[in-house]
Amino acid sequence: MSQAKAYAARSATTPLAPFSFERRALRDNDVNIDILYCGVCHSDIHVAESDWGSSEYPVVPGHEIVGRVTEVGSKVSKYKVGDIVGVGCMVDSCQHCAHCAESLEQYCDNGFVGTYGFHDLIDGSLTYGGYSDHIVVREEFVLSIPEALDVSKAAPLLCAGITTYSPLRHNGVKAGDKVGVLGMGGLGHMGVKFAKALGAEVTIFTRSESKIAEAKKQGADHVIVSTDEAQMQAAAMSFDYLLDTIPVQHDLNPYLNCLKVDGTHILVGLVEPMEPAPHSANLVMKRRVLTGSLIGGIAETQEVLDFCAEHNIECDAEMINIQDINEAYQRMKKGDVKYRFIIDMKSLKA
Ligand code: NDP
Ligand code: ZN
Repeated sequence: MSQAKAYAARSATTPLAPFSFERRALRDNDVNIDILYCGVCHSDIHVAESDWGSSEYPVVPGHEIVGRVTEVGSKVSKYKVGDIVGVGCMVDSCQHCAHCAESLEQYCDNGFVGTYGFHDLIDGSLTYGGYSDHIVVREEFVLSIPEALDVSKAAPLLCAGITTYSPLRHNGVKAGDKVGVLGMGGLGHMGVKFAKALGAEVTIFTRSESKIAEAKKQGADHVIVSTDEAQMQAAAMSFDYLLDTIPVQHDLNPYLNCLKVDGTHILVGLVEPMEPAPHSANLVMKRRVLTGSLIGGIAETQEVLDFCAEHNIECDAEMINIQDINEAYQRMKKGDVKYRFIIDMKSLKA
């Protein structure tokens, strides 16, 4: 066992504060990682504040982790001390069901183990995430960070990156397709970069007029202010795909109306209840598809890291200290982040 320093939420209504706990002793197939950077995902807020109604406290959030290997178990073959590695949203799964066999561990028939707020499959202990000084993870769930990536900006690829890359690839987005990205935050801005890299014509849907100029700098071809009804009406029947990253309950109908016949609306936010409900006519009359997507498997997460290295794609980040985390959450709730907060974990050790 090793003592870990961290920041945790003790309840849905208390701000994050310093917390100490024991990380498990290294198993044969485990890697011990000294955490250098951790991205801040809106899911961290959902879980810290129990938006999904099931959080077990204390919650140590953080599933966009980049660090350096400090120790490896006797059976570890992929990593050695000193390697720069990543950990995303999952730290274990059964490894033998049909989905694990296809490296779709996020859809493991026996349930994957999330990086925080889940239970270890062997000793049952609660998992604690990356707002901490180190983490112990079995090697199958550790990613290799390509040398070409800026280590200080790679962390968000492990959730925001894979969560937007995977559905674009799975749904077959290709050159010339018209893709809309809903919400210009951590996920949304990565979605724009990937859709552009795949050759699509990309439109950002944002509530914030102030993000229009920024959106073009991100590479978006067009911007629609989603609160402007006239702009939404003018976009009717024009998109092949919409990638919806909005983190709160919202009316899908005006967006569905923007899809062509056979167009696909991809949800990644978990926002219950879905009210008002999507109108059946908005789907039936144009054979539109409403679908969802959960992160991506381990093999595809490595693929997205390598894809970003090859295509020079990186996230736009604001670096913060761990002591600023509660303020960062407040700013994210207002959509005031360009476009991902990354915690410099040196601040925890200071
Ligand atoms: P961010 O907070 O970084 O960005 C969300 C964006 O949505 C904001 O920047 C804002 O963009 C827009 N938005 C915010 N509030 C509203 C509102 N009230 N109405 C309309 N638009 C709004 O969040 P993330 O990108 O980190 O996460 C987005 C969602 O995806 C979260 O719900 C998260 O839990 C989920 N998620 C899902 C995953 C999956 O596997 N399916 C994995 C990771 C995250 P703008 O100002 O441009 O309007
Ligand atoms: Zn996330």
